[in-house]
Amino acid sequence: MATRRDDIIKKIMQRVVKTEDGCWIWQGPTSGDGRGGGYPRMNLDGQTVAVHRVIFTCFFGFIPGKKQIDHTCRNRLCCNPEHLEMVTHKKNQLRRDLANRQARTQSISP
Ligand SMILES: [Zn+2]
Repeated sequence: MATRRDDIIKKIMQRVVKTEDGCWIWQGPTSGDGRGGGYPRMNLDGQTVAVHRVIFTCFFGFIPGKKQIDHTCRNRLCCNPEHLEMVTHKKNQLRRDLANRQARTQSISP
């Protein structure tokens, strides 16, 4: 008998494409451009939810309210539970700052 969890995972897997890097790239709607954008979104029981958070919950269980789900592969659209890590907001912020700084440095150099 398929459980609700299996149904949700199946629903998500129908909309991801697996890359050579092992990322599961979400093909559905996202939270848009700009700050806080670019995250995968889906409809679950009439609510819009973040797909990577749903996947994390399916595989690892409940996410405490203050915790964020970070992508160890830095790809926001990735839904592979092996690439997801639960972190505090502060830690996520630090990592994002570091990633932004690296991106800026790269865009400056020829
Ligand atoms: Zn990934």
